[in-house]
Amino acid sequence: MWIRGLPRLRRGGPNDGGFGGHLGAPNLIGALALAALLVLSGAAGAADTALSGAEGHPRGRLPLALHLASFGEPALDEAAGRAVEDWNALATEALGLRVFAPAPSVAAAQVLVRVEPPRASGAMGVTEIDADAAGVIRLPVRIAVVGPHARGQVSREVVLYQVLAHELGHALGLGHVADPRSLMCCVAGAVDFADPVTREAYVAARRQPDIRSARTQLVEHYRRFWSRAP
Ligand SMILES: [Zn+2]
Repeated sequence: MWIRGLPRLRRGGPNDGGFGGHLGAPNLIGALALAALLVLSGAAGAADTALSGAEGHPRGRLPLALHLASFGEPALDEAAGRAVEDWNALATEALGLRVFAPAPSVAAAQVLVRVEPPRASGAMGVTEIDADAAGVIRLPVRIAVVGPHARGQVSREVVLYQVLAHELGHALGLGHVADPRSLMCCVAGAVDFADPVTREAYVAARRQPDIRSARTQLVEHYRRFWSRAP
């Protein structure tokens, strides 16, 4: 998904999720199914930028005050809330602290999640993030999430959960990875979607998103970051 607002980071070109141009006709059906999943996950058409890997939050800043806009339906708001709480459960277990807490007001929010109409790019989520020279993320971080639609076997609630959980990972400073099973997939061009095993792993992870798939990335990221900016 799109990350913008990091002027000192390289901005990549249009990204098709590493998918375009590699599949022959026999794979057309699978290609179309995958294209739909890439769109739902926000990977298709996104001018994705990798975080440099050096951006984060000082330990004393956590948990971040989070304001979550309503998605207009209890089931969607519940899914969004679950994405937040699952990050907290993982961070509590892996880092010993919660990473998000409800903001007392919009003005006091350090992370703002708003709902937007669909984008022409097909991107389902965007995280606007910036950092100072030391890599400390400037506040507030702004996340825009498109009101979700069901895609194939994937319900709106799961689509929203997956997109928001991924964007919250960016808000914590996590960039994209090349592991198709990870919530934080994918680094543009680094994943070979022409490989059936890779493709199946990617699709399965979008259908059943699991924040714990980013555990190792989270732990290593903050081990590094807090050694420089505690
Ligand atoms: Zn992303």
